[in-house]
Amino acid sequence: MMAQATFVIAGASLAGAKGAEALRGHGFDGRIVLIGDEPEPPYERPPLSKGYLQGKQDRETIFVHPPQWYTDHDVELRLDTTITAFDRHRRTVTVSGGETISYDKLLLATGASPRRLPVPGADLDDVLYLRRVGDCERIQSTFRTASRMVFVGGGWIGLEVASAARDAGVDVTILEAGELPLLRVLGPQIASVFAGLHREHGVDLRLGAQVTEIAGNGGKAAGVLLADGTRIDADAVMVGIGAVPNTQLATDSGLQVDNGVVVDASLRSSDPHIYAVGDVANAFHRRLNKHIRVEHWANALHQPETAARSMLGERAIYDRVPYFFTDQYNLGMEYAGYAEPGQYDDVVVRGDLSRREFIAFWLADGRVLAGMNVNLWDVNDTIQHLIRSGNQINRDELADPDVPLDQLIPN
Ligand code: FAD
Ligand code: NAP
Repeated sequence: MMAQATFVIAGASLAGAKGAEALRGHGFDGRIVLIGDEPEPPYERPPLSKGYLQGKQDRETIFVHPPQWYTDHDVELRLDTTITAFDRHRRTVTVSGGETISYDKLLLATGASPRRLPVPGADLDDVLYLRRVGDCERIQSTFRTASRMVFVGGGWIGLEVASAARDAGVDVTILEAGELPLLRVLGPQIASVFAGLHREHGVDLRLGAQVTEIAGNGGKAAGVLLADGTRIDADAVMVGIGAVPNTQLATDSGLQVDNGVVVDASLRSSDPHIYAVGDVANAFHRRLNKHIRVEHWANALHQPETAARSMLGERAIYDRVPYFFTDQYNLGMEYAGYAEPGQYDDVVVRGDLSRREFIAFWLADGRVLAGMNVNLWDVNDTIQHLIRSGNQINRDELADPDVPLDQLIPN
């Protein structure tokens, strides 16, 4: 039945490219049209705030597939092409230029965009945001010319780019509205580790900072004004205050949208012909028994496999443990699980916080919800096992580095 079908994938980044790969991998031999509004073939974003930004990784290493892969797998890759609308009743997408393409199934992989800072001056041309490879290259060249940068937002982007900026010899001020960077994700004890790391590397980290304006000079961003009257001068201003899912098309088409395109555990939307994956998808997670929208590389990497199988009529469920990682200065970490503020009642540390070599666990009722290994490797699979087991774990043993972690996994 599917041999002559057309599957359209909206968004040609990691999730979109992996969707095409998974469809072919599962034997779909109909037409695949992969449409993206960026000029580059699908690429991965983590290097844009790490290795590629720092000049340690070559440009060709960021791409999901070599260019020839799309031809070899008969995937019609339409770059520099914006989908302007889709019509769920006719089952068509319209692209820039007015062409319409019919689909049998549509996979939404439109990702997310940087949240804009809603203060005067934030629309100055040279205020830096980071999502695309072009943004990254602009920041790279800023590192060569700027001696002082100010970062608005102490989230992952702010901290990773600040780390690269310090490595490039740039003076850095980070303005974080909260009491600590990453406070909401990590809680005070572990967030303090990241605050200490940056201060040790010479970052002027200011907490509880309310930015009221990006100050311009001759039409260029020249600093930041704070609510308490402080002005911080800089040669460049970068904003990293989160991402918002690209849901406009879905909303306009009448799909169910609530913090992303709402999909079930098979990644199917409220329209049975439309699926969503990656940053744009608010997916039901069976283990957590709720919808979650996960802005992680691993999610964009793995969800398309499930979506492709669902699109091909198989029964497939996505229930992987959420996973992400960061690298800042000499700190590398992996985080697995899902522990929102208010959901956990205990944080257990195994190892040495001050040396930044430890595993932190977030627990509720003695059960591990999430775990993060910092500068300790080959343990994340075990952490995920502990999470999946759902069993109560002895707190003292969890905290004791002499008790092998895999010994705590119930048989
Ligand atoms: P996206 O990567 O956002 O791709 C969506 C694509 O769809 C984009 O190309 C977009 O332009 C396109 N598009 C949107 N609307 C349309 C339209 N109407 N028509 C055509 N095309 C459209 N995660 C981690 O776990 N670890 C990390 O270390 C990490 N580092 C990161 C560093 C940076 C700088 C950034 C920005 C993100 C990082 N992430 C990291 C997050 C991770 O990159 C994202 O979760 C991942 O990119 C999501 O992939 P996606 O394909 O769902 O969406
Ligand atoms: P982020 O990690 O979500 O952090 C955004 C930070 O900005 C948070 O501290 C947030 O505080 C704060 N904030 C939100 N609204 C604000 C406002 N109006 N004014 C000032 N501060 C505000 O987002 P990001 O660092 O911008 O990264 C963007 C995307 O890239 C995210 O999807 C992120 O996951 C992804 N990314 C991931 C990695 C990684 O996993 N290693 C690396 C880089 C980028 P609250 O928490 O209190 O809301």
